[in-house]
Amino acid sequence: MTFHTLNELIADGVRGRYILVRSDLNVPLDGSEVTDDGRIKASLPVLTKLTDAGARVLVTAHLGRPKGAPEEKYSLKPAATRLAELASFKVTLAGDTVGASAKELAASLQDGEALVLENVRFDARETSKDDAERGAFADELVALTRDNGAYVDDAFGAVHRKHASVYDVATRLPSYQGDLVHTEVEVLRKLTTDTQRPYVVVLGGSKVSDKLAVIDNLIGKADTILVGGGMLFTFLAAAGHKVAGSLLEEDQIPVVQDYLKRAADAGTEFIVPTDVEVAGKFAADADHETVPADGIEGSSFGAQGIGLDIGPDSAAAFASRIKGAKTVFWNGPMGVFEFEAFAGGTRAIAQALTEADAFTVVGGGDSAAAVRTLGFADDQFGHISTGGGASLEYLEGKELPGLSVLDR
Ligand code: ADP
Ligand code: MG
Repeated sequence: MTFHTLNELIADGVRGRYILVRSDLNVPLDGSEVTDDGRIKASLPVLTKLTDAGARVLVTAHLGRPKGAPEEKYSLKPAATRLAELASFKVTLAGDTVGASAKELAASLQDGEALVLENVRFDARETSKDDAERGAFADELVALTRDNGAYVDDAFGAVHRKHASVYDVATRLPSYQGDLVHTEVEVLRKLTTDTQRPYVVVLGGSKVSDKLAVIDNLIGKADTILVGGGMLFTFLAAAGHKVAGSLLEEDQIPVVQDYLKRAADAGTEFIVPTDVEVAGKFAADADHETVPADGIEGSSFGAQGIGLDIGPDSAAAFASRIKGAKTVFWNGPMGVFEFEAFAGGTRAIAQALTEADAFTVVGGGDSAAAVRTLGFADDQFGHISTGGGASLEYLEGKELPGLSVLDR
């Protein structure tokens, strides 16, 4: 695929032009406080480049999952306020997305200023499955750019969505790839073509069936897949072991058995934990003990036991595989890292990534949060991806509508 870059747009000249930018401002909030402004900071460079060059920037973004109508708690106000604090240019927020307020403020926007439109998901047409409905909304967004507009997609976390502000606007305006999307795509390309070997993939987390889908496409591509987090119990069950009260997706057992068979032929090795940290209940202060992975029901909690982390032997084995790798992709915490007692596996993996002489990529919202809360710095990793779902779908080999629409 070939894309037009932001630099090409700027070289073409943007002074006085209305440029529609899809940003990822979907930040966590505590009331009206932004608790992690990482995505706002990541969105700033593109907005700054455009405003510095004299563009009139219209920013679209979503926050949370409102049900197609305005809802105060999903207003972009806190995000726009934080953006205004960080920005070197003037930022205003419209009271609606494509209504009277957006139209009026867009009309009075000056060169080098940015207007954030309200949450695109306040309009049900944004996520509609009906092409005509989405198209009508896209038309209204595009109308705000007048007659010489352009579109920049800088929201990597949304490129797997066929939504009006991601997909349909790009079919209506000259379209460009923002720097964030560009970087993410370059990184993902390194994980799928001419990948430096050994290529080790570490998978964990709690969305078991989501993560299992990516494995399908990694068989034959990755040399080693290390299995932790909630999905490890489906792997143990597939091997005939009892997992007591641990997270288990029984209907996925045949899927896992098929993967194990295909992997053996394709030269991909699965490594499943040999020991597990089992707790008596799902709580920070739960009693817990380390047991062999094939003996979870033999813990003192019996059938009530819940596996909440990989054990220390497994963590050491995983770490040594990671340190021998040239490329590592990690998605999903190894255990319930939010509880200190069950953060050991995740910490060991993060540590190993920082020590590996390899290109290391961390994907997934909770995985990124985990490495940060465990005290690691972003620059200790090759890349920390902003889009969990989007990067998994890319690695699954799925077409990402928001990317293919930018292809020329
Ligand atoms: P990401 O956002 O990085 O893609 P997920 O959303 O799939 O990751 O999963 C993150 C969550 O998985 C964490 O909140 C963590 O507590 C949970 N988790 C990890 N291991 C287990 C386990 N053994 N049992 C239950 N939850 C787990
Ligand atoms: Mg998550």
